[in-house]
Amino acid sequence: MKTINYWKISPWDWGKDPQGWEKQWNACLKEKMIAIGWDKVGDLQELSLEQIKNRLFENYEEYRRRNYKTRLTLDAKQIFYFKEIKDGAIVVANKGQKEIAGVGQVDGNYYYNRRADVHKHTLPVKWLDTERRKIRRQMHWLPTVIPLTKQKMREFGILKIIKEVRIQKYEAGIKKGATFSQRVMKTREFQQAFRNAILENYQRRCAVCDVDDDAFLRGCHIVPVKNDPKIAGDPKNGICLCVIHDVAFEKGIFSITDEYEVRVSDSFKTTSRVLASAISKLNGKKIRLPSQYYPNKLYLKKHRVIHGL
Ligand SMILES: [Zn+2]
Repeated sequence: MKTINYWKISPWDWGKDPQGWEKQWNACLKEKMIAIGWDKVGDLQELSLEQIKNRLFENYEEYRRRNYKTRLTLDAKQIFYFKEIKDGAIVVANKGQKEIAGVGQVDGNYYYNRRADVHKHTLPVKWLDTERRKIRRQMHWLPTVIPLTKQKMREFGILKIIKEVRIQKYEAGIKKGATFSQRVMKTREFQQAFRNAILENYQRRCAVCDVDDDAFLRGCHIVPVKNDPKIAGDPKNGICLCVIHDVAFEKGIFSITDEYEVRVSDSFKTTSRVLASAISKLNGKKIRLPSQYYPNKLYLKKHRVIHGL
């Protein structure tokens, strides 16, 4: 069977029992579902169309009447369609032939609700829009379950409703994302504040070379934040380095001794003249000490331990 995404389902026979319709429709909204009758057929889950037909025939006297053969097939099909409706399909609940009561989205699989007094065949539905809409009289809308075409959905203005609901959901998603980016922003604000404090502390110059252009300077952590978040904001855990030295320090290409001297790792080899002069030549050189917060020696040690230096 081709999957049909749009279905008209009548909660109750409005023509015969308008009060009963209202009552049942309220139950549909409250319990977030739509349900149909023919309860004596029993749980439909494992039943084929043919089996449903047989059960209708056995359990309802009317189908055994003459001239009811077509009706039997038609009703069996409705019941079969109903239980085959897929999660995510759109349901249009109607009140008679001239009114749409609500639009919803199937939110799970068919089940036989034994606790219900009537209309036990149930589909969970998330009702998206319950504004009642008058429509042109639909002559063929007497059966309970009818597949709808996309054109019909458009004609009733339902495609628009579904689209709006999707947009609202999307916007709600963005809002959720916004609180997330606010958190990120806070982190970013913190990082900026930290960088500023460290740059100031080192008079806006790299501690190991003469780079003094802000654009090339970073306030880096001696002990990485991930290793000890508690001291992430401690200015004694910060050092002002230029981009190249920041990378080299972060990778453990060089460390700083307790005497504040640069120690370049023995394993660092380069054929680049730029890197040789920027890094290799630093070995043994004393760093430029800051005005206020000297690097904490315990942090320097931890940096060396982390990098095995
Ligand atoms: Zn530098």
